[in-house]
Amino acid sequence: MKIIANPFEVKEYLKTVPMRIGFVPTMGALHEGHLSLIKKAKEENDFVVVSIFVNPTQFLQGEDLDSYPKKDAADKKICELAGVDLLFMPNAEGMYGVDEVTLQAPNVRGYVLEGTSRPGHFSGVLQVVMKLLNIVQPTKAYFGKKDAQQLHLITLMVQNFYMSVEIVPVDTVRESDGLAMSSRNVYLSQEEHQEALKISKSLKMATQLVMQKNFVSSEIKNAMRNTLAPLEISYVEILNRNFELLQEVEIGNTIVLVEALVGRTRLLDNLWL
Ligand code: AMP
Repeated sequence: MKIIANPFEVKEYLKTVPMRIGFVPTMGALHEGHLSLIKKAKEENDFVVVSIFVNPTQFLQGEDLDSYPKKDAADKKICELAGVDLLFMPNAEGMYGVDEVTLQAPNVRGYVLEGTSRPGHFSGVLQVVMKLLNIVQPTKAYFGKKDAQQLHLITLMVQNFYMSVEIVPVDTVRESDGLAMSSRNVYLSQEEHQEALKISKSLKMATQLVMQKNFVSSEIKNAMRNTLAPLEISYVEILNRNFELLQEVEIGNTIVLVEALVGRTRLLDNLWL
């Protein structure tokens, strides 16, 4: 496995790779969720690139940029064992200049849900993903459905800017107890981990109601809020795949999204119906 830090060097190196390139952008501290993206990329491409970059522009003042879990040595091993061909590990100086052209997340869909508590977060995400996609120029790029709003906005960016890459959504990987895997789960104490299970339980509750043919969004959201209590809820929302509010669940076109605060850790999860 080749490891490169310099973006220009990556571009040069990939010129010698005339194959289908699959790309998995990450912030490191890799877990089974990341691995399922890598696995899918391996299956569908001839050459797999993973990037590890904790992107400063998507963190707001006071967020966990400086304490974000870092496991470079373990991550390199995991990538090697997973059969990654190129690991791109840039630093902030290599990725950003001063007074740059920037990207702006869309006014509505970039500033609702996670964008409400993290205004500007998605502009930073789009900025770095645009850079990464231009450096690697993959055939396909893999993103987790767990970060549904991020996935939606990246797909929108690729359409809006007529980019050639195919964005591939990948299902959420969970712990055996139901908690969606996340690099930030290491912040949770044992008690908080137990509390956090209310999030996936609330989604199970939504599934049960829909299976009983209750499609009314307000009723499903109420039942979810009851399951989540006493967690501090950032949002519980039922949207269509275009991120518009739904009064009633439409099977095949619905995402149920939840974000709650467990201790000081913001956790998100969702259900695609
Ligand atoms: P991150 O390192 O948290 O920025 O995540 C990198 C990529 O992995 C993103 O596309 C995430 O949506 C995806 N991802 C994170 N957690 C999971 C998970 N539990 N299951 C599937 N994909 C995930």
